[in-house]
Amino acid sequence: MNEFELIAQWTRSLPGNASVIVGAGDDCAVLDLGEPGRYLLFKTDAVVQGIHFSATAEPEQIGHKALGRCLSDIAAMAGRPIAALVTMALPSQFDPAFLQRIYAGMNRLAEQHGVAIVGGETTTNPERLLISVCLLGDVAADKCILRSGAKNGDALFVTGELGGSLAGRHLEFEPRLAEARWLAGHFAIHAMIDLSDGLAGDLRHVLQRGNVGAEVLARAIPISRAARLQAKAESSAKTPLLAALSDGEDFELLFTVAGRDAVPLLDAWKKQFPKTRLSCIGKITSAPGLKLRDKTGVHSLEAHGYVHFA
Ligand SMILES: [Mg+2]
Repeated sequence: MNEFELIAQWTRSLPGNASVIVGAGDDCAVLDLGEPGRYLLFKTDAVVQGIHFSATAEPEQIGHKALGRCLSDIAAMAGRPIAALVTMALPSQFDPAFLQRIYAGMNRLAEQHGVAIVGGETTTNPERLLISVCLLGDVAADKCILRSGAKNGDALFVTGELGGSLAGRHLEFEPRLAEARWLAGHFAIHAMIDLSDGLAGDLRHVLQRGNVGAEVLARAIPISRAARLQAKAESSAKTPLLAALSDGEDFELLFTVAGRDAVPLLDAWKKQFPKTRLSCIGKITSAPGLKLRDKTGVHSLEAHGYVHFA
């Protein structure tokens, strides 16, 4: 049983109440606390030494990533982040100066996005550092974008460039909060997710949720320079295309809009975010499954995204 099957099994029996609009299974939980026209977004995420960062990562980068992952999930709902709680589990004999630098990285990102850090917890974990961030946000009820909602004929878009993130970008990415809110404010976005487990894996979540399929155009996938360099440097490395499809931790946005909105959206995006790439990588189909079209034809896509304990 892999991570996603296990999560699906244990989330089926979770208790709910009248506040729950969307429970486990989207980028954030969505709650209605009675504020007219607004939903609360609720998210938690953890980073663990040796899994999400190596012992050689700069402490500021570790702090940045710990909060950035949660911010990226708020972005995936087109939300606004508000306040965070931070739990640190520190190895014994932990250097206080190192901890201070983790907070410096986290605080800088929090300030940049108007997020208050309002408390948390410090505990010990004998072997390795773990940081868990819980984040509250909100969103206009009619602008909240879910993973579900992709429709046959939709154009499929992705921001930025994909693959090779572990070479460094995963510690320095900028969560796409402004971009996501702009998208939801100006276009009827049908479905959105942030890319944490790899394009192929995360796109599958969108397809399952929407009960649709997709055809992705191989040459339209924006492959990062890091993925190309990696493929050149190591003969055993993935091809750049496979890296873009299956490497995790890109923290870009994947979304769908009606086909007729695709060109106006691309034009408006270029004016609004001239430095950030936006690529139309394919279309949503009524036939289920994920297909890749390249020079040789249309193939069923085998590449899965990154799955923990697969
Ligand atoms: Mg996510």
